[in-house]
Amino acid sequence: MGSGTWYEVNHESIITKNLFDKVHNRFKSMPKGRSTEKIFNYSGTMICGECGSTITAVRKTKTLSNGKSKDYTYYVCSRYTRHSCKQQPIEESVLMKGLVNIMDGVNLDKFLLKTEYEYEVNRIHKMSEQLGNSYNKKAKEKLDIRSQMKYMVENGSREERIRLLKNLGQKINLKEKAVYLD
Ligand SMILES: [Zn+2]
Repeated sequence: MGSGTWYEVNHESIITKNLFDKVHNRFKSMPKGRSTEKIFNYSGTMICGECGSTITAVRKTKTLSNGKSKDYTYYVCSRYTRHSCKQQPIEESVLMKGLVNIMDGVNLDKFLLKTEYEYEVNRIHKMSEQLGNSYNKKAKEKLDIRSQMKYMVENGSREERIRLLKNLGQKINLKEKAVYLD
């Protein structure tokens, strides 16, 4: 607090400060905008199998039969809202199952994060071995790069999921409520 110029506080600036606080507090109490905040798990990772445009996410609130409302996330072609593409929206949980399934078909030679995933799988193997005897051969066989990829699609952080899907080395197409690789 040593340097800088100090100004005498006059009446005017107090009013201004009050006003500032009011505006600031109102701003703080505002709910975090859903439309501006990109919180979707798979945005920017797919292209439309109909027209080649990017797939974007939208959130919809549905009223359930018990009167409560629930938020759903849908993925849809960016041209759908302008009615220039007839690709149908797909709900996130359905999409996720499809994305998990296509991990079986990923060409691992093209997969750009292969080394990283290999390293991670080996690390988990080593850690599990250290934990004890229950980690048998069968359990070890279950964990490989592909199962790790599937795990990440389902349970990774938003960043991890998007990073994985963007680095498959193959494009993910969405068509008729299903996903497939190029
Ligand atoms: Zn489209």
